[in-house]
Order: sequence, then C-alpha cells, then structure tokens
Amino acid sequence: MEIKDRTKNILAISAFVVILATLVFVIIQNRSQANTISSLQEELNYFAAENASSSRNFRTEREIASSTIAELAERLSMTAEELEDVERDLRHEEDKNEDFEDQIKAISGTVGILDKLSKTDEELLQKYSRTYFLNENFVPMKLSKIETKYILPGRQEQYFHGDAIDFLNDMLDDAENDGMDLKVLSAYRSFDEQQSLKGQYTQVYGSGANAFSADQGYSEHQLGTTVDISDQVTGGAYTSFAQTEEYKWLLENAHKYGFILSYPEDNGFYVFEPWHWRFVGIDLASDLRRENADFYTWDQRTIDEYLVKIFD
Ligand SMILES: [Zn+2]
Repeated sequence: MEIKDRTKNILAISAFVVILATLVFVIIQNRSQANTISSLQEELNYFAAENASSSRNFRTEREIASSTIAELAERLSMTAEELEDVERDLRHEEDKNEDFEDQIKAISGTVGILDKLSKTDEELLQKYSRTYFLNENFVPMKLSKIETKYILPGRQEQYFHGDAIDFLNDMLDDAENDGMDLKVLSAYRSFDEQQSLKGQYTQVYGSGANAFSADQGYSEHQLGTTVDISDQVTGGAYTSFAQTEEYKWLLENAHKYGFILSYPEDNGFYVFEPWHWRFVGIDLASDLRRENADFYTWDQRTIDEYLVKIFD
C-alpha cells in the first residue's frame, strides 16, 4: 500500500513536471513565434515603406523624365523654327550680298569712268575759236617724241600726246603701206612757241597770218593731239596738199585712227586747213564721219560724252 502511494505520487509529480515542461515549452515557443511574427511584421512594414518610397521616387523620376522630354521636344521645335529663321536670314543676306555686289560693280564701273576721266584732260575735246583759247598754262599730261622717220626731213624734233601717239604711228605706217608719203611737219606747240611762230608768220604774211596759223590752230596744237601733215613733195606748201593722193587717203582713212580734219573745205567757220588733223578718238571721229558732220558744228555736250573713251 505504501509502495502504491509512492508510485502514485511519483507519477503525479512526473505528470506535473511533464505538463509544466510542456507549458514552459509552449510559452517559450509562443513567445519566439510572436517575436518572429513581429520581426516579420517590422520587415514587412519596412518593405512596404521602402516600396512606397521607391514607387514615389519612380513616379518622380518618370515625371521629371517626361517633363524633360516635353521640354526637349519644345526646344527641338524651337530650334527647327530658329533654323528656318536662320535660313531665311541667310537667304536674305545672300540677296543683299548680291545686291551689294551689283552695287559695287556699278560703283566700280562709275569709279573706273571717273578715274579714266580724272586722268584725261577735258580740254582734249574742247572746241576752240578765235575767242575761246586754251589756257596759256595748259601742258598735256604726257608728251612723247615722234620718231624721226615720221618727221619731214629738215624739221626739228616733234612731240605728240603720249596716249595718242600710237594712233598717229599706226596711221602713218598704214598710209606708207598703202603707198602714201605722209610726214609730220609740226605737232605739239607750247604757248610760247605758238607766240613766236605767230610773230614769224606775221612778219612773212602780214595780217593774213592770223587767218590760218596763229588763230585757228593755236589751241589745238597746244593740246598735243594735233599734227600738221603733208607729203614730202608738197612739204610746207600747205594749201596745195589738198590736191594730193595723200590728202584723199586721209579723208578716207583718218577716222579709223581717231583723227579728224578740224577745218574742212567750205566749213563756214574757218579757212580750209587740209594739213591740220586733230586726234579726237576713234569713236567720235567715226561717228562724225557717219553723220557727215564736222567737229566744230557738233554740240559741245555731245562731244564731251566721247571724252571717257577717247583713247580706246
Ligand atoms: Zn595746224
């Protein structure tokens, strides 16, 4: 009986211990699970927060990106517009440049003409008369010595305008090729030479000298563009030169070299001077011939228009 009771007690204690242990285990287990759950919960919260933040960030980034794209697109369209503007401006500038170029050409053309005129004595195409003489101080810009072979033997050296002398030489060469015998008697004469010449003529011819030498040819010889020409047979016999083949040749050809007869036969103004030829340029000489006109009957303003091309 005693043993039975002790066994009962031991069993009861054991059962109690087992129950207690189980209880403790359950409690511990429970606690640990609760810990795990709460830590999981925390983690979950963290992830949720993280997710929310990153999705917020993502949204922000997307917003930034799309606004940037919109901005770029706007800039691009602006750039395209600007490009059109620039192109239009460029075309406008090109047009302006072309206009400018045209203007420059026109201006340089005008400058060229003015430059040419500034280097050409306007006196070269002036009409001179008994009352309108060239200024006594006038001296041609250039004077060249006429080669001796063109001068009538026995005459002193002669000078001609430097820009016109080639025309004179060509005329005399071509005349010679055509069998003509033309020589220069007299060309450039300064004011002083003219004065002394007038004195000589006056002594020889009396007041009749005024009729041809001293008055009419006066200024034209001072220009340097005028020559008295004759054949060697006639020489200085002057008026009889009109009967020569050489004179006829000059009437037919002198204009091709820019020469005109200042005082033709029956000119109504002055005594006929068949020996006295003046260089006025090929254009003017040719036009006068075509119009069957005389230099001294043409209007001075019309004549002046030829000045710019006198040496062309
Ligand atoms: Zn003369």
